[in-house]
Amino acid sequence: MTAPERYDALVLGSGQGGKLLAWDLARSGRRTGVVERRWIGGSCPNINCMPSKNEIWSANVAYLARRGAEFGATIDRVAVDMVKVRQRKRDMVDRQVHAHLNAYKDSGAELIMGMGRFVAPKTLEVRLNDGGARVLYADNVFVNVGTHATIPSIPGLEASGPLTSIEALEFDHVPPHLIVLGGGYVGLEFSQACRRFGSRVTVIQHDPQLLSQEDPDIAHEVQRILSAEGIECHVGAQTLGVQGRSGTGVTVLARTAAGEQRIEGSDILIAVGRAPNTSGIGLEQAGVELDARGYVRVNDRLETTAADVWAIGECAGTPHFTHASVDDFRIIKENLAGGNRSTRDRLIPYCVFTDPPLAHVGLSERDADRQGMAVRVAKLSMNDVLRVQAVDARPGLMKVLVSTSDDRILGFTMLGPEAGEVMAAVQAAMLAELPYPKLRDAVLAHLTMAEGLGALLSNVPPLTHRTGSR
Ligand SMILES: Cc1cc2nc3c(=O)[nH]c(=O)nc-3n(C[C@H](O)[C@H](O)[C@H](O)COP(=O)(O)OP(=O)(O)OC[C@H]3O[C@@H](n4cnc5c(N)ncnc54)[C@H](O)[C@@H]3O)c2cc1C
Repeated sequence: MTAPERYDALVLGSGQGGKLLAWDLARSGRRTGVVERRWIGGSCPNINCMPSKNEIWSANVAYLARRGAEFGATIDRVAVDMVKVRQRKRDMVDRQVHAHLNAYKDSGAELIMGMGRFVAPKTLEVRLNDGGARVLYADNVFVNVGTHATIPSIPGLEASGPLTSIEALEFDHVPPHLIVLGGGYVGLEFSQACRRFGSRVTVIQHDPQLLSQEDPDIAHEVQRILSAEGIECHVGAQTLGVQGRSGTGVTVLARTAAGEQRIEGSDILIAVGRAPNTSGIGLEQAGVELDARGYVRVNDRLETTAADVWAIGECAGTPHFTHASVDDFRIIKENLAGGNRSTRDRLIPYCVFTDPPLAHVGLSERDADRQGMAVRVAKLSMNDVLRVQAVDARPGLMKVLVSTSDDRILGFTMLGPEAGEVMAAVQAAMLAELPYPKLRDAVLAHLTMAEGLGALLSNVPPLTHRTGSR
């Protein structure tokens, strides 16, 4: 092996937290390199969050345009041009890549495009995309390699050339009938967008409800809303086999509540889960251990089992969200500067960008049940939020969990317009450990969605009812 080139810090995979760390370290004068095989800026701006939300926005425009007459704005004919939809998304991605390249330039961090793997402790070999290889050593190494969509082993599935979310963002036509395996957030966001572009959509979900992590009442409401738009949802269904080829015609054989069914579609999208990009990258050569599911084993400071090697983001088992990976960066940065931050007890919110969106932070009723924890629960139908009446939004609900020993808010879920924005207000109250009556009695602006928080929190059973009531 040739003598490795020496760096102060190397980041393997330009994930969301890793690139921020690289720029930060480089700005402080450390020689820093980032090894990235393909996506400048990682998944979020290239193939995940931003492009999916971009196309979802186009789908929502088409949907609203079709509903125009309901609002007194008659639009004669709504046509969807997927080449234009895709181009708008590609233009946004290009702008993001450009901004990232500028950030590399400005910070002084070196972007090394190629496939990296460990060949010795703290030593990476990079097969450069332009040809050739480099061997790099750093005092500190950060692994931020992300995950990929898993393709379940179902007879005929792999041979059918199924789409993952990456290819589904590249449609240049409206797929006539999209079959979606998986009723998690990725599957549902794509299902609704394609439906709104004009596809027929069938969702096949193995678990007994959509969005398995959510409370059943929330998941049920999501299913009701999607079904009302004409999306066919099979929950508790088992996919037995697939025939044909995605793009030209596929048949899925599934065992559903209605018995065995042959579902004929044009395309098949797989969105059943993610697996870490940790195999075949020599982690064992570097003393970096994996857990049973293949994620990098880390402690609550994101330190791996190898000295001076950290893991960041999804590959470290961090919740699969950009903001969680970004917070990993903040933890490591603070700890490198002598701090003592940990991943324990982080309040990590999330949004599902269906319409209406779903937002959640903190404890769910399902988790409270599992932990045998008594909580006070209050709900509010979005129909009771006056802004919903004004904008004719699809109904949904708000739900809050409050402690039975004091008035702290423990969890909040909202399925309704602008749910993510409303959630941020509740999250702030939770972080401040604000007793819920303070938020209940706040003067909230009329006519906002957040105004509903007053009515929701008025439904919280008083503290004397220590029943863990539902
Ligand atoms: C369709 C979809 C939509 C999503 N929408 C949202 C959303 O709206 N909000 C949200 O918070 N989250 C969303 N997510 C999740 C979010 O994108 C990720 O959690 C986020 O990108 C964090 O990823 P990360 O930092 O772990 O790594 P990533 O951003 O995935 O980056 C890992 C990088 O490592 C590179 N890499 C891997 N192996 C190697 C190697 N050996 N050598 C060199 N490079 C390598 C990869 O090419 C990749 O660029 C979405 C996910 C999907 C699939």
